[in-house]
Amino acid sequence: MRPYFLERFGNASSIHHFGQHARAAVEKARNSVAALLNARPAEIVFTSGGTEADNLGIFGLVRSGDHVITSTIEHSAVMNTCKRLEQMGVGVSYVPVNGRGEVDPGDVRKAIRPQTRLISIMMANNETGVVQPVEEIGKIAVEDDVFFHTDAVQAAGKIPVDVQKIKCDALSISGHKIHGPQGTGALFLKKGTLIQPLVYGGNHERQRRAGTENLPGIVGLGKAAEISRQWLEHGGPAEMATTRDRMENAILAAVDSTGVNGLGAPRVPNTTSIYFDHVEGEALVIALDLKGLSVSSGAACSSGAIEPSHVLLAMGLSHERARGSLRLSVGKQTTNDEVDFAIKVIPETVARLRELSPTYQKAEVSS
Ligand code: PLP
Repeated sequence: MRPYFLERFGNASSIHHFGQHARAAVEKARNSVAALLNARPAEIVFTSGGTEADNLGIFGLVRSGDHVITSTIEHSAVMNTCKRLEQMGVGVSYVPVNGRGEVDPGDVRKAIRPQTRLISIMMANNETGVVQPVEEIGKIAVEDDVFFHTDAVQAAGKIPVDVQKIKCDALSISGHKIHGPQGTGALFLKKGTLIQPLVYGGNHERQRRAGTENLPGIVGLGKAAEISRQWLEHGGPAEMATTRDRMENAILAAVDSTGVNGLGAPRVPNTTSIYFDHVEGEALVIALDLKGLSVSSGAACSSGAIEPSHVLLAMGLSHERARGSLRLSVGKQTTNDEVDFAIKVIPETVARLRELSPTYQKAEVSS
């Protein structure tokens, strides 16, 4: 990325040689992103991230009076877009998930109405890592002649993502989830799919997203896609899953009253969501952060109050269990020593917090 901030700082729309070098770099990156998704380069629209790709893929395909089907476990980039659609006179159905966090394609089929224009169901969930049956859903969308968008932000670069197999019309990815730069992303848009842009201006990105391209960002996204593709082809996911499973199994063995959210469902290899009964997730996150371990909890601060995760609630977890859940992720650079540290420090910290927990003491007395 570095030369494109300084000595190769051209505008990809300019005719002069700086512009032509910039254009070549953008198109090289487009080829790499297309190759990661088994798409054609012309089907890739660069965006400012996964959120914008989701917004473009959804708002761009839907009009007032249409009906949209999504799920109860979507990321806020899709969920809040659908809430906005409802305010704009679009009907939205939210299909549920089972206890393992999986959407049933049969429920998607049942939700289809004559007005249904779009199905938007994520490929992998950002909290549990559970992979959704997108190929079955894609088949349903084709049979019923409905657009299918999938948020593949958490799937791309972790498991193979093939737009031909999924049979989707639109698919979102984000740079920073594949070790690329923040503030970059892309929407795959199937050839021939007419979209209403979100951003009007020049003719950039084949009139699908106006504005001078983020040259260094796009170059970084392209490189990340290229590296991700090699990693996928050379056994990266299995190796990563081994690291994640070692951490998961060791924590489960060392701590009682705990379990994995989404266990038994297909999952991306980097994520685990673990509940720890009788512990407040936020307290655990802070205590672990002080020890040097960065994790997130199954709750988020919303309007000043700590709300349990809508994903975990949709899977049937109680408020307490959702709030006592942690999301742990490993990355390509995570070392065995770092995993050993997590395995040591999490049980110790849970035990210390439980000593202060009146509900844990009660449960111990009665067992
Ligand atoms: N969709 C999912 C599933 C995500 O996990 C995220 C980010 O965490 C997004 C969309 C938003 O992507 P971005 O942060 O690039 O806007």
